[in-house]
Amino acid sequence: MLLPASFTPLWSAPASSPPGGLWFVLESGRLLTSAAAGQADTLTVPQGDGPLVPVDGARCIGLLGEVPCWAARARTEAAPPGFTLEPLRRLFDRLPDELVAVAGRAAQALEFDRTHRHCGACAAPTEESDGGRARRCPACGEVYYARLAPAMMVLVTRQGPAGRELLLATGSRSGARIYSALAGFVEPSESLEDCVRREVDEEVGLQIRGLRYFGSECWPFPHSLMVAFLAEYAGGDIRCQEGEIVDAQWFPVGRLPALPHRLSVARQLIDHAVAEAER
Ligand SMILES: [Zn+2]
Repeated sequence: MLLPASFTPLWSAPASSPPGGLWFVLESGRLLTSAAAGQADTLTVPQGDGPLVPVDGARCIGLLGEVPCWAARARTEAAPPGFTLEPLRRLFDRLPDELVAVAGRAAQALEFDRTHRHCGACAAPTEESDGGRARRCPACGEVYYARLAPAMMVLVTRQGPAGRELLLATGSRSGARIYSALAGFVEPSESLEDCVRREVDEEVGLQIRGLRYFGSECWPFPHSLMVAFLAEYAGGDIRCQEGEIVDAQWFPVGRLPALPHRLSVARQLIDHAVAEAER
């Protein structure tokens, strides 16, 4: 998901910040929302001087236009009347895209705070550093920044008997049998290109060529940076990796299975390949 152009990322509130703002209150990955005024099918987040519920660790994460955006962790599992707490992923299409993206940043900032309260080297309590961007251990000097896990995604295509075909797979973790491009986390010492070739070989046993960068996107579940590529099939027969890939097939662009949500870089990658094939 992409932050809107009107969003200015910050790690603490600017001195001249107006009071109040938008509140992104999370409880175990669930976001506090309510129906937007006069629009029953559109959700929004609390707005005003306070977060409506008792919270811990409130921090400013940026400005949406001129409006400060606050992230905070709810100290209760119960939403107040008229509000609900729901997993962020289930709010796609009901919460405006720009609020989904800011909520993703809020979730990552709070997750960073939650998992770095103590130093991983000496176990002393850490304190805020670098204007809220980092946490530093006063005992041993170790400095921690928010974690990002680089992951690659690749859509392999080929010329089939009836036109362009896309290699799409469904994994053991895909509940609703959604088919997507191949993906995997980058390992230490690996380049993105090495990772793409290794993952394609491991997951489906194919060779590729002509790797082309497509784009990248933050995926805050919990902190992936997805880097997406297109590649051309170069050889091999599909052989699904046991325990990882349930099914992988060549799909003609005119006959695609259930695809990931439009906010995912995977879907944008697939849509791009389809548009390219139809050109
Ligand atoms: Zn330490």
